[in-house]
Amino acid sequence: MKRLSVAVVGCGSGGPATAAMLARAGHDVVLLEEAPKLTAVGAGILLQPTGMEVLLELGVLDRILDHGSPVHRLHGVSASGRAVLDIPYADIEDGVHGLGMYRPTLLTILVDAMADHGAELELGCAVKRIERRGSRSWLIDDRGRRRGPFDLVVLADGARSDLRKRLGLERRAQIYPWGALFFIGEEPAERASSTLSQVFRGSGTFVGLLPTGRAIDGHGSRMSLFWSVRNDRVSQWRKLGLEHLREQVVSLMPEAEAVVEQIPSMEALMHARYLDVVLDRLWMPGIVCLGDHAHAMSPQLGQGVNMALLDAQALATAIDESEHLSAALSAFDAARRDHLDFYQPVNRLATPFFQSDHAPLGWFRDLALAQVSRVPLLRRQQALTMAGLKTGPLTHRPVSRAVRAALLRHEARSQRQFEAGAVSTSHW
Ligand SMILES: Cc1cc2nc3c(=O)[nH]c(=O)nc-3n(C[C@H](O)[C@H](O)[C@H](O)COP(=O)(O)OP(=O)(O)OC[C@H]3O[C@@H](n4cnc5c(N)ncnc54)[C@H](O)[C@@H]3O)c2cc1C
Repeated sequence: MKRLSVAVVGCGSGGPATAAMLARAGHDVVLLEEAPKLTAVGAGILLQPTGMEVLLELGVLDRILDHGSPVHRLHGVSASGRAVLDIPYADIEDGVHGLGMYRPTLLTILVDAMADHGAELELGCAVKRIERRGSRSWLIDDRGRRRGPFDLVVLADGARSDLRKRLGLERRAQIYPWGALFFIGEEPAERASSTLSQVFRGSGTFVGLLPTGRAIDGHGSRMSLFWSVRNDRVSQWRKLGLEHLREQVVSLMPEAEAVVEQIPSMEALMHARYLDVVLDRLWMPGIVCLGDHAHAMSPQLGQGVNMALLDAQALATAIDESEHLSAALSAFDAARRDHLDFYQPVNRLATPFFQSDHAPLGWFRDLALAQVSRVPLLRRQQALTMAGLKTGPLTHRPVSRAVRAALLRHEARSQRQFEAGAVSTSHW
């Protein structure tokens, strides 16, 4: 493929990863982001081995591992204390784990990778329109400025994209009635955890705690707290006040107390809404859609960032291996199909069992998942699903050897550092 002139719209996770990969392959890339400065908004995220494979290819996995919190299992119980979910990553393979990350840290590392490979970043540029003439595109921003021409426009502008509707590729874009209030606090050193913990009451209430890694220049680890809410009850929750929320959370999950205590006010809790987005296809001539713009889901299976990273990798590979741009975009769509066709319906199906007004769905979930957790074969399927590795009901991709090796190397190094620290502390 000839050297392309590429505009990427949106600097979340899929955008900078794509920009870095395409710039590394020798294309001219500019990334346009509407925010005037780089701030990744949102709860902590769980990186899966799939997303880590892309970060490894970009040469940033070691830096990511240095800043993340290893998550070895997902553990969920009902309000009565009965085990509902217990999914260790070790069911996939020893040494494999997820990684809790602080979003701004992931963003900084991706943007540094972009800069290293020569992609440009322009902030404060909200793209409002795309003009196509022949095989080239121009982008018009909110101040009427035109940029272009570009051979390829990559739309990575997230779930709430204004541009999506205009392209005519949208089959579905629905807001879920339920979302979450979340807060990111300091992880209490004495309670350092490597588990994503959840407690459920029916289908209407759940609380979750995710170890969230470190800020790029910070020392202490962070912890994200999630509280499920119906979107139309958020203002009611805010009015009920912090003391009420604290009581509710701590009565369900006593170990969340140290994080809840750090919430300064109800306004410090951020409200996340989720969308379910499906496109007829991921591209049209000269334009390709990826990340949440193309396939936003509720975060029940925690795959969104990982999917956006996989998109970036698949697009770069397709462009590298194709002679013509349209062939590359079609190959990209085909490469992502199995994965999307598995995760989108499963996620849609699972969501009301965790967040809905239908309490019996929650009871059924508790019974069914508790049984599944007892059957090793099914539990492994759960682990593969959580790790983002499924490509169909009966198929999955393996964990990359190189990712597993990097995880083991990092764990050994952390262990050595810990022992060295312990020795010097006892000497002191
Ligand atoms: C509560 C919650 C928890 C989650 N937990 C996880 C998890 O554990 N693991 C996981 O993998 N995923 C998780 N997700 C999902 C994940 O956040 C998304 O899937 C992911 O951020 C999508 O990345 P993206 O790059 O496609 O879009 P985004 O991260 O949304 O980035 C889009 C960017 O585009 C910019 N933009 C928008 N419009 C324009 C425009 N017109 N012009 C220029 N720029 C524009 C925005 O400012 C933004 O920077 C979670 C989501 C929520 C809500």
